[in-house]
Amino acid sequence: MKYDVVIGLEVHVQIKTESKMFCSCPNRYGEEPNTLTCPVCMGYPGAMPVPNRKAIEKAVIAGLMCGCSISEYSKFDRKSYFYPDMAKNYQISQYDLPFCLEGNIKVEGKGFSGKKIQIKNIGITRIHLEEDAAKSNHYAACSGVDYNKAGIPLLEIVSEPDIASADEAYAYLTNLKEIMQYGNISSCDMEKGQMRCDVNISLKPKGRKEFGTKIELKNMNSFRAVHRAVEYEIDRQAEALDEGVTLRQETRGWNDERGETYLMRSKESAHDYRYFPEPDLMPVVFTKNDIDNFKADIPELPKAKRERFISQFNVTEYDAKVLTAEKAVADYFEKGAEHTKSPKLLANWMITDLLKEISDSGLNINEIRVTPENLAEMIEMINKKTISGKIGKTVLSEMFKTGNKPSVIVKEKGLIQDTDESSIEKYVDKAIEDNPSQAEQYRSGKKNVLQYFVGQVMKQSRGKANPQIAIKLLKEKLG
Ligand code: ADP
Ligand code: ZN
Ligand code: MG
Repeated sequence: MKYDVVIGLEVHVQIKTESKMFCSCPNRYGEEPNTLTCPVCMGYPGAMPVPNRKAIEKAVIAGLMCGCSISEYSKFDRKSYFYPDMAKNYQISQYDLPFCLEGNIKVEGKGFSGKKIQIKNIGITRIHLEEDAAKSNHYAACSGVDYNKAGIPLLEIVSEPDIASADEAYAYLTNLKEIMQYGNISSCDMEKGQMRCDVNISLKPKGRKEFGTKIELKNMNSFRAVHRAVEYEIDRQAEALDEGVTLRQETRGWNDERGETYLMRSKESAHDYRYFPEPDLMPVVFTKNDIDNFKADIPELPKAKRERFISQFNVTEYDAKVLTAEKAVADYFEKGAEHTKSPKLLANWMITDLLKEISDSGLNINEIRVTPENLAEMIEMINKKTISGKIGKTVLSEMFKTGNKPSVIVKEKGLIQDTDESSIEKYVDKAIEDNPSQAEQYRSGKKNVLQYFVGQVMKQSRGKANPQIAIKLLKEKLG
């Protein structure tokens, strides 16, 4: 292509708090419409906003995790606009003095197409805090407004125009979501509207410094939609430029079914919003000491955690990736690792068996009955050869069902591994006696028949024979 693609994202993230941004209504999803409201979030004249300290703290932590500097002096502003989802006709937001400025995220991972992304620094212009708007619902004969969402604390994270492809946009969003979830800032459940994204995109002839006219794409509600919309828009703009058409700055929507963007409106600019300082709220002042205290609270980022897992627990890069993909899984692993001498074995069991049980059951890791301590106890039993790996599978699914300790399950079900040579010898003799032709094959050089005999011994002992001892005896007896 003869154009460079220039993309900047504006991502909205609902902050996870007990109550809303400027009132004490609960911050919850999925309730009866207009049951979580009060004069403040309904925008009654004269109702006074009171800022939510927790939301401000989380905004600052989010900024620190994105490498931003935190302003010692910030304030809230009114952004005026007239629309049914904003009863006051202005939104409390931040204009020229937001909490967080000038950060960057080291983006890595994969694009939507699965293609690996070169590690890239994407600049963060600013992160500010505002209140969410209400939700408009459209019915056959009328429309309704649900104010339950009005006033939920909302972060806006604005990136520099550093993103150069649909895949990079996808990877940036994936990384940002991971950070927000790790920091317990937001659950980022896109189906619940907890993470939303506007895409600004323009093309310019390759190598030219000056940017082209940006088009803003509104209301993308999945990462996949972002990827598709960007691809579509690149083609559309390239075609227009090829034909010598001058693009105008405009806001476009995305029609997911048709796979097309469409014109919504020509873009408004900042002065249309008549920003001015919110007179009902004090400016927010942090001392250097406050900011240092916030810094002490920054949770470990996923990337740092992966690197630490590799060095501390001796797991592979792949293991570390799987174990840190969700913070809850990483926490589970770390808890378990405190109780075993073989964290690598624990990692294997978590990745191949536990996560499979979890996905089959449809539960999440916080809901399962297998505690990390109990799983670690089972790993120790395997390590000490009290049970075999094969028996371990039975024990684990029993733990999953009952939540019992592995030692209890093993005792109740008589699953302890048999390491007594003379009793294993009986199984070995029987296996050879029952399978003379296989024994002949082995003796004539087909050494892999040994696995068959091991299988027979395990079958007869119902999985309890120690496989190393069985192999040793089989080799001896088969000559
Ligand atoms: P506005 O004043 O219209 O809100 P901003 O300059 O604040 O525009 O930028 C909004 C977003 O658009 C940012 O994420 C920024 O990186 C991105 N952006 C700015 N200019 C361009 C451009 N020419 N092409 C693509 N994205 C751009
Ligand atoms: Zn309220
Ligand atoms: Mg702007």
